[in-house]
Amino acid sequence: MNPKWNGQFSCFDLVAKTDAHPRSVVQVRNIEFGGDDFIVMAGPCAVESEGQLMQTAEAVAEAGARVLRGGAYKPRSSPYAFQGLGLEGLKILRKAREATGLAIVTEVMSEEDVDVIAEYADIMQVGTRSMENYALLEALGGCGRPVLLKRGMTATIEELMRSAQVIAMAGNLDVILCERGIRTFETATRNTLDIAAVPVLKAVSHLPVIVDPSHAAGVRSLVPVLSRAAVVVGADGLIVEVHPCPEEALSDGNQSLTFGEFRHMMADLQPFLDLVQTDRQFRPQLLAAGGAD
Ligand code: PEP
Ligand code: MN
Repeated sequence: MNPKWNGQFSCFDLVAKTDAHPRSVVQVRNIEFGGDDFIVMAGPCAVESEGQLMQTAEAVAEAGARVLRGGAYKPRSSPYAFQGLGLEGLKILRKAREATGLAIVTEVMSEEDVDVIAEYADIMQVGTRSMENYALLEALGGCGRPVLLKRGMTATIEELMRSAQVIAMAGNLDVILCERGIRTFETATRNTLDIAAVPVLKAVSHLPVIVDPSHAAGVRSLVPVLSRAAVVVGADGLIVEVHPCPEEALSDGNQSLTFGEFRHMMADLQPFLDLVQTDRQFRPQLLAAGGAD
């Protein structure tokens, strides 16, 4: 370990790695983040309709995803873009969970929405634009759900750790860190995937670390290869955008995989998972009505 890291991160005592606390497992229903399994979360950028989400949920579950993603409350770069279905979107997510048994991750943008979203979601997603919204982070301290904390697009690793510490100090130690690409001078990709952030975070924090290759790349053709990279550097999982018809998506269609591409990607990852850790296997999600526990 770079000796600089010890002093740099030890002040974030609730989330920093120590000999006594080298790693933590975040339990979401029957899923363990940071354990032996590599957990894939997948689904559309935004919940657009019941049909779109149900179809996607079944496809990603069949391909081995364990968690369904989908934004009901969307932070958009343009004020004119689709802002999400809100409560109706949450109700559709709940139906998809009941139909497939997948756990649900969805974004919370405001502390005012924490209670209602916690009623429907299994994991509360904090987006890149909200990483330093301390009122939100503090409210998530008492929400009773694990938090997926995405790295701010201009945030350092230290700032990400600081935000995780804020949630932990507010009472919630179930935090999953997510590298989703940062702003650099590069314009060929939407963001620059800071792949080194994964082993650095794994070295300095006991929290699970996942990668979002979709928002990092901005183009779907790069998503499978960046996912491989995430596996190889030791990430605990992925969050990936998948849409039944990406050309018609209301948001982030360019970076969304089709069902076939997602299936392919999942199959392609297995040998890389085997390389990294022989006991990290995908556990297929059974499609069973009422499979939610
Ligand atoms: C998303 O997951 O759809 C999203 C908006 O992500 P980010 O906050 O990383 O841009
Ligand atoms: Mn998106």
